[in-house]
Amino acid sequence: MKELIVGIDLGTTNSEIAVDLDGEIKVIPIHGNPIMPSCVGIDSAGKLIVGQAARNQLIAAPESTVLSIKRKMGTDEKVKLGDKEFTPEEISSFILRELKQEGERHLDQAIHKAVITVPAFFNEQQRKATQLAGELAGLEVVRILNEPTAAALAYGGGNADGETMLVYDLGGGTFDVSVVTVEAGVIEVKASHGDTHLGGDDFDQLLVEHAVAAFKKAQGIDLHQDLKTLRRLKVAMEQAKRRLSDDPCVTVREEYLDGERHLELELMRTDYEEMILPLMEKTLICLHQSLSDAMLGPTNISKVMLVGGATRTPLVHRLLQNRLGLDPRFEINPDLIVAMGAAVQGGVLAGEKRHSILVDITPHTFSTGILSDHLGYRRVECFPIIPRNTPLPASKADLFTTCYDDQISVEVTAYQGENVLPEENTLIGNFMVEGLSEVPAGNQVIIHFDLDLNGMLKVTATEKATGLAKTVTMDTRGAHRLDIDQARRNIASLVGEPGGASSETASERPDHHAQLATAKDLRKRAEGLLQKNISSEDAAELRKLLQESAEAISMSADLTDFNEALSDLLFYLED
Ligand code: ADP
Ligand code: MG
Repeated sequence: MKELIVGIDLGTTNSEIAVDLDGEIKVIPIHGNPIMPSCVGIDSAGKLIVGQAARNQLIAAPESTVLSIKRKMGTDEKVKLGDKEFTPEEISSFILRELKQEGERHLDQAIHKAVITVPAFFNEQQRKATQLAGELAGLEVVRILNEPTAAALAYGGGNADGETMLVYDLGGGTFDVSVVTVEAGVIEVKASHGDTHLGGDDFDQLLVEHAVAAFKKAQGIDLHQDLKTLRRLKVAMEQAKRRLSDDPCVTVREEYLDGERHLELELMRTDYEEMILPLMEKTLICLHQSLSDAMLGPTNISKVMLVGGATRTPLVHRLLQNRLGLDPRFEINPDLIVAMGAAVQGGVLAGEKRHSILVDITPHTFSTGILSDHLGYRRVECFPIIPRNTPLPASKADLFTTCYDDQISVEVTAYQGENVLPEENTLIGNFMVEGLSEVPAGNQVIIHFDLDLNGMLKVTATEKATGLAKTVTMDTRGAHRLDIDQARRNIASLVGEPGGASSETASERPDHHAQLATAKDLRKRAEGLLQKNISSEDAAELRKLLQESAEAISMSADLTDFNEALSDLLFYLED
């Protein structure tokens, strides 16, 4: 049997273990889950418990449970567990031993050697402590690897010489950002900055404060003194925070929170993002610091990799894109990437030649059409719900509002493609939702996209106030299928055989592609004119036609009349 060298991410909040099996990187489940809380405890019978079981007793028995031991690595500080005291190395060794034993059980093979990762900023003492923890767990630690290096390895770094990458790692309690370069096949951390007290826990804490304030306002009770309730709230808020990464709003319900009264709290993603923005700004300052230490600017970076569970927060992606123009990579699970990279290193040391990490992602962005203001007129734009490179299956939602008073219906569209203009993307499907409440403009509608591994997209629109909902499942591979259907019909029209499956989409109308091409051309010319010095009346007329034509395009309507009107006006204005 081949020698195995496993890769272990010994994290502050969570730990993971992975292994290179004949060139394929596999994450080994621990107690049935790929992620194990880095939590150690003593149960009521005095037995040592590690992982989720220890995490579960945190509220009931905080004095018998240890969290975040990684922060103490390399210090002499001891921690109490039940009536005994332990060094940080000993506590860490319990975590490593659990990973080793579960790994052995799962692989049905003994594990003797490991690569263990540490933050780039760890000093010699902290690295030694980690090594010692491994040995106490019965592991030969063949290498202590920097976490950002592991992330770069997972993304295939090391193959392209001269590559400069950025690793943005936002975990539970710590944030690091590192500049990593590849020279002569060697991956090196050029600069690393961070904040050892900034991470998902802080986001939870802000939500806890928000909930405490809401409870005080509603019930007149201050929960600040009640430690047990605060811990319970923290668990609830951490779950709500995770859901806010995929949904635009969540409701938190905690019954008998203070023993008598319930908490019912609605959280909007937009409000949450406002709460955490100052902390996110801090991460960007660190990022700039790292770049300037390495004497680089954002344009020198070829790849930005997202690491750590908290990078699932959509605001992280948006800030990196909007503020720095960087398009982050997130197709490898941010919770598992460090362990996977460590397994790649383990594989290299064990003599494995090939290392592949298989991920199922969507190569396209899926958006919905919305009305948006552009150069002073309204046009239909594509608003991304599931960005490209998102791992599958994916389930994401966003919140939209109606444009007009008493708007009782909305058209929901789904597009595939990267452009903001619907006409440049592929229409996957559309449907009407009727019977919305007759209320002023601004009625909230949640659009939910569920994309599975087979390319089926389930689109659900829900009126938030009433729960009125409609779901339509669309086949995203339709773009190709339609082409085949059209080809069949073309052939059929020549040889006189019945056509393919009938469907009413515009893409199948023989002249639709030509109409669309004409519309695109006319619209470009019109937008060009709007930038020039034309009278306000002409501009208004042009904007009106642009808007009408955009709406027609988004509904896949016949474009003949719109094209004609636009062409006439352009003829008159361009002279
Ligand atoms: P560490 O490296 O510190 O062990 P992890 O990388 O495991 O930490 O990240 C843990 C943090 O990620 C926690 O704060 C957790 O709440 C957060 N997290 C996990 N999943 C999500 C999610 N879907 N959205 C937002 N935060 C998340
Ligand atoms: Mg981590």
